[in-house]
Amino acid sequence: MTQVFQAFIDGQGTDSVSGETLSITNPATGQVVAQAAKCGQPDLEKAVAAAEKAGPAWAATPVGERSKVLLKAASLIMANQQELAELETMEHGSPIRKTMNFDVPLCAEQLEYFAGVARAMTGETLPVGPWCLSTTVREPLGIVGLITPWNFPALMVVWKLGAALVTGNTCIVKPPSIAPLTTLKLAEILTEAGAPAGTVNVVTGPGEKIGEAMVRHPKIAKIGFTGDTATGKRIMQVASDHVKPVGLELGGKNAFIVLDDADVDAAVQGAVFGAFFNSGQVCAAASRFYIHDSIYDDFAAKFVEAAKALRFGDPMDMATVIGPVAYAAHRDKIEAYIADAKQSGATLLLGGERPQTEETKDGYFVPPTIFGDCDQNARFMREEIFGPVVGLCRFSDTDEAIGLANDTPFGLSASLWTRDTAKGIALAGQIKAGTVWINEHLIIFCDTPWGGCKESGWGKDLSKMVLEEYTLTKHIYVDLTGQPEKPWYGILK
Ligand code: NDP
Repeated sequence: MTQVFQAFIDGQGTDSVSGETLSITNPATGQVVAQAAKCGQPDLEKAVAAAEKAGPAWAATPVGERSKVLLKAASLIMANQQELAELETMEHGSPIRKTMNFDVPLCAEQLEYFAGVARAMTGETLPVGPWCLSTTVREPLGIVGLITPWNFPALMVVWKLGAALVTGNTCIVKPPSIAPLTTLKLAEILTEAGAPAGTVNVVTGPGEKIGEAMVRHPKIAKIGFTGDTATGKRIMQVASDHVKPVGLELGGKNAFIVLDDADVDAAVQGAVFGAFFNSGQVCAAASRFYIHDSIYDDFAAKFVEAAKALRFGDPMDMATVIGPVAYAAHRDKIEAYIADAKQSGATLLLGGERPQTEETKDGYFVPPTIFGDCDQNARFMREEIFGPVVGLCRFSDTDEAIGLANDTPFGLSASLWTRDTAKGIALAGQIKAGTVWINEHLIIFCDTPWGGCKESGWGKDLSKMVLEEYTLTKHIYVDLTGQPEKPWYGILK
């Protein structure tokens, strides 16, 4: 009998109204390891009712008190570090080395950040004229719907939940169906930390049904979404019927540009991290590599050597740095891109075959895979793979490299590698993306805004900018003249 995880509504665990469940599979073994409630419309209605009931009191709670709940939750997350890390490794396959040392501590740090930055949120007094007070205040939106992806199950929900809660909203979270367990644990932790019943609700179930029902729901004021570009487009369409605001953090096809004056060894280190962290299941993963002709062979040889050394296998082993990808159909999709790359005439430099070791044979493993001399127009160079597969291209002229980097429907991130910082900054201005790193790839801080342009979406997560995403800026005008007649009334007289 596997453990059944209930949905979390009105401060407590609850079975789905239908009694149905979803199976959760460990991608390292292919075994079903748990069940989670399969929620539908009646469960969503219960969550909306709970969030609506909790709304006024939470909105009226001083921000300093809301911050304390997040700070307490941050310390409880660290107190539950082992359990959260094991849960995430089990449901997602991310190595325990990473979930223990990266995901869980970062969840705590993000809550600490939101707890602090929200207290510095301000309105403005506007110098309209001496006859009035014109000022803005920031109000919670009400009930917000947060729909999250599976690639960082805990972090992605904390990004949104921390910001939405501390600004006084009540929340309904729809976590990914394949990996909802850490989100459920986080909801429990927030409640233990003092988030009142109804402020954090989690409905687990299929996105096309319950996710879409959230987008349609007239009482949900906003949708914060991270996920696939195709899903984001669908959400925009549905939301337009209600003129509902949506924040969209979508896919990427991120360029990694190495100029002729770069420190090749540093670029190689950055390439391994940028391409293979989390098995490349990162929206900002380095995917398209543009390497100056004069250093291409040196870079390619060193990159292959460094990637070859990555130990992949059982994610519960602290020595493992690359685990399986998250589910079987995703492994199959990545393998289809590998087949496409081979067919396109690219040179296979590393990986490319399903591993058959005792440790990996039942799981969904894809080894680090590098192709050289790629065609920019091949399908695997244009679409988001979301796996540990990259392609290298040569360039001889910097303008050409910038043109290649911008030749994509996506606009999430890119990196430039050069010893000439001034040149790097100037080139960063020519790249259409939400983030450009110089001599780094993939580093994200709570303090810095995150979000793309073009088909990578809009809106920002993280940084103080996210506070605007979850508040209404209301203008309040106060007449100070005390006079019944105003000069502008004359227009009607
Ligand atoms: P999906 O878009 O498939 O799923 C994301 C979430 O949306 C899931 O909870 C899913 O539910 C739900 N969903 C699916 N269909 C609908 C619908 N019609 N209406 C409402 N909700 C729906 O993305 P993935 O989980 O596969 O995540 C990977 C994607 O996320 C990649 O493209 C990646 O680039 C992107 N991403 C972007 C980031 C960014 O910051 N820009 C960061 C991280 C990831 P269910 O699981 O039940 O299908």
